[in-house]
Amino acid sequence: MEFFGHVIDGEEVESQDGARFDSVDPWTRQRWSEVALASRKDVEAAVASARRAFDDGPWPRMGYAERGRLLHRLADLVEANKQELGLADTRDMGKPVTQSVGNDVDRAVQNLRFFADHARLTAADTLPMDSGHHAYTRFGPAGVVAAIAPWNFPLMLETWKIAPALAWGNTVVLKPAEDTPASATLLARLAVEAGLPPGVLNVVHGYGPESAGQALTESTMIDRITFTGASSTGRTIARVAGGNLVPASLELGGKGANLVFADADLDTAVDWSIRAIFTNAGQVCLAGSRLYVQREVYDEFLARFVAAAEAMVIGDPTEPATQVGPLASQEHYKKVRGYVETIEAQGGRIRTGGLGDGWIVRPTVITDMPQDAPHWCEEIFGPLVVVAPFDTEAEGIALANDTPYGLNAMVFTENLSRAHRVSAALRAGTVWVNCFFIRDLRAPFGGVGESGVGREGGAFSREFFTEPKAVVMQI
Ligand code: NAD
Repeated sequence: MEFFGHVIDGEEVESQDGARFDSVDPWTRQRWSEVALASRKDVEAAVASARRAFDDGPWPRMGYAERGRLLHRLADLVEANKQELGLADTRDMGKPVTQSVGNDVDRAVQNLRFFADHARLTAADTLPMDSGHHAYTRFGPAGVVAAIAPWNFPLMLETWKIAPALAWGNTVVLKPAEDTPASATLLARLAVEAGLPPGVLNVVHGYGPESAGQALTESTMIDRITFTGASSTGRTIARVAGGNLVPASLELGGKGANLVFADADLDTAVDWSIRAIFTNAGQVCLAGSRLYVQREVYDEFLARFVAAAEAMVIGDPTEPATQVGPLASQEHYKKVRGYVETIEAQGGRIRTGGLGDGWIVRPTVITDMPQDAPHWCEEIFGPLVVVAPFDTEAEGIALANDTPYGLNAMVFTENLSRAHRVSAALRAGTVWVNCFFIRDLRAPFGGVGESGVGREGGAFSREFFTEPKAVVMQI
């Protein structure tokens, strides 16, 4: 049985009271590893270690080039251990290896390399003033960063937080999601091997409320909280952070709209719309879970979309051919199953899909659902998509914006003016035109309304993970 400990002050350790919890592989539905379960004392030890490393250690003082060199070395090690890291996420949460090994680890490497270079190249702004003064901005590290991650893209989202925090000279305490602890410990082991000084990257394992997550966010020794997870958790964390005057970046849930216009290239639209909802079994904050298709092409699109959903390969996530694996945990499966079981009672019609074996939900396409049904309004976080026709561009935009969420939207059209016009009108942090999930790490990432507060990415991460200081000189 594998064991994954906390990593505190450069050492992998058990909890002080020896407590552990199990991680269950959702495909076999068997326990595959044991994990240290932190108490408040363990979290305090991790924060104290990060504090010492920040206040007295070399990391914030060694300069961008040296820090960047160590982060690139960590990226090299992540690349060299791609199989092990990717498989750890697959075993923890059932993500197909084509996604974990084939995509997420590469994205983790890209996160580390991008922010290492970005920090070095954007370390200051200079402002020669008309008055003859000279102002410049220094971006000093903020201090100790608490990073709290969800289970749907474990390694990829953890490095999205850790990489900019570290590149700007902060130290970090990471709490991965309880369903996906393994890759965080593996990453922290590699960080030690890469030569990051003790205490720079700490990992503590445990649950959220009344557990490690709550203890970490309530610590008065942290300077930033970067959180990705559910909107309800974001609210709780925002209250705690507000009480302690700690800036918090919140990347929360979504209910992405996908607008397919009659002038779209339907091959492109079907292909990306399938990926937008069924990648990672729909457990994606950015999932295109509300699909609106212009009436002229509705029937043709739907027929092709249903056929493509039915062609997806479902099964063992460790098989390279598998496209859809099980849901991440029994608890999450039960939640999604509840939505599947109420489709018809809510007035909807299942065009394809439904429940599969074990904790599998098959790619499920729903039509005829009243717009006020939970399936249109709530984040299901599973492979369920509701589809409806619309007539005019204005109606399409109004339907897309009719949600308290605002993380992202997709637009499929071959009309250039429409692409820009609709993108401008959509209430969302990201709009993808004729594609999905393509990221430029310089671009802002975050959401509106229930989808979050703040943006990360490129200079937006710099603003969040530093204390910018203005220096104004008479010259
Ligand atoms: P969650 O909010 O239940 O848990 C996320 C993390 O927060 C876990 O590590 C958990 O232990 C911790 N946590 C829970 N309660 C806490 C508390 N009171 N104090 C401190 N920490 C606490 O979310 P989840 O179910 O793991 O993830 C799914 C959600 O994440 C979905 O809503 C999804 O849309 C969202 N998500 C958003 C993005 C984004 O970039 N906007 C990306 C991925 C996932």
